[in-house]
Amino acid sequence: MKEPLLVLKFGGTSVGSIERITEVAKRVALFKDSGHRVVVVVSAMSGETNRLMTLANQVDTVPNERELDVLLSAGEQVSMALLAMMLNKMGYPAVSLTGGQAGVITDNLHNDATIRHINTGYIEALLQQNQIVVVAGFQGVNENGDITTLGRGGSDTSAVVLAGALNADECQIFTDVDGIYSCDPRIVPTARKLDTIDFPHMEIMASKGAKVLHLPCVCYAWQNQVPLRVRSSFSSGEGTLVKGSDAEFGVYGIAVQKDLIFVEVDAREVDALISQCQLLSIPVWSVIEQTERYGVVVKESAYGRLALVFAEKIRNSDRVSSLSAIGTPKSSSEVQGIVERSCELLAGAGIDVFASFAGNNYTMLLLKPDVVEKAANIIHNKFIVSEEVLEQQQKLAVS
Ligand code: ADP
Ligand code: ASP
Ligand code: MG
Repeated sequence: MKEPLLVLKFGGTSVGSIERITEVAKRVALFKDSGHRVVVVVSAMSGETNRLMTLANQVDTVPNERELDVLLSAGEQVSMALLAMMLNKMGYPAVSLTGGQAGVITDNLHNDATIRHINTGYIEALLQQNQIVVVAGFQGVNENGDITTLGRGGSDTSAVVLAGALNADECQIFTDVDGIYSCDPRIVPTARKLDTIDFPHMEIMASKGAKVLHLPCVCYAWQNQVPLRVRSSFSSGEGTLVKGSDAEFGVYGIAVQKDLIFVEVDAREVDALISQCQLLSIPVWSVIEQTERYGVVVKESAYGRLALVFAEKIRNSDRVSSLSAIGTPKSSSEVQGIVERSCELLAGAGIDVFASFAGNNYTMLLLKPDVVEKAANIIHNKFIVSEEVLEQQQKLAVS
């Protein structure tokens, strides 16, 4: 019988120095020693993708997208080679592969590509030879063999899709926090670590800015039932298991998205602006159509491309952040109630809400970037860890 197969992904901070790569290699070796076949997916060393992006922007504010992918993919190529070298030095045979070498085939959307399929033959042959296979995350090749990248944070997706294609027993995402929390613990110190989180909630958390997991990674794992765990590369501990789709009622988590831009246009230009975003494959974060304020919110990283073709019609552009409360409401009036209570609470703290939205399983507020962290603490502490909420949960647990 074949040994169980694990796909282990290590993010940027986890491979951020030779010391860290040594620790990662030791951890990988432990899995190997305990009788696993191991595929490791690595990100670029922390700060490296940003450094390469800055270099590109020194050449052009909107760099040629094909060449940008060639450049950005180099970050992961450095860490994969260093980790494979380290493992070999420790006496563990290991081979590193770029996305293309690993058979990762994507569509043609440079800078934000989607994995179409993985030709796993080469990886499987290497595993058969008892090698540890180290794969560069965040990258693949299109049908012409051109390098593509999967969007910021995309190594999580590389790992999960590899786990699915190889029919791995588990995909473990090692990062710089010890699991998934009810909100980013770097923003909200009282955030609670979750032992498990269901796929529907995790999907909305990721889509609203919880960058602990790349959104397509969550979608793929859910659709293909890939067992997925998030844990710390700095400490032991079981982390958080993402599984199932049974959602409890109530507000479950808070997600913050920074680095957004509100692109303001005349009311009559909103539809044209949305169409332009679609043409450029720029996701629209939200549409604002209020008296005297019309436009769309997009990620700051996409603004340059939009401005290039729509500049004459853009009246103004302002940085904003979003704060989303994610959960399963008992009714649509409950969602509206959460929006109203949130706005009241924030007004009481002197925080202006720029715009608010109510979806099926979330509410979203747009705020000025400098107040979003304070607001996240207020909303989290009211809806997730207040005495009132904890009492309700205890009652539910007893009944
Ligand atoms: P990696 O480089 O390992 O991929 P990321 O920076 O992409 O790491 O993701 C980990 C970070 O995600 C954490 O350091 C934390 O600040 C952030 N984060 C955002 N939301 C959450 C959340 N709900 N739970 C845990 N971490 C979160
Ligand atoms: N290195 C890429 C980034 O910084 C991909 C990743 O880390 O997942 O976005
Ligand atoms: Mg990440």
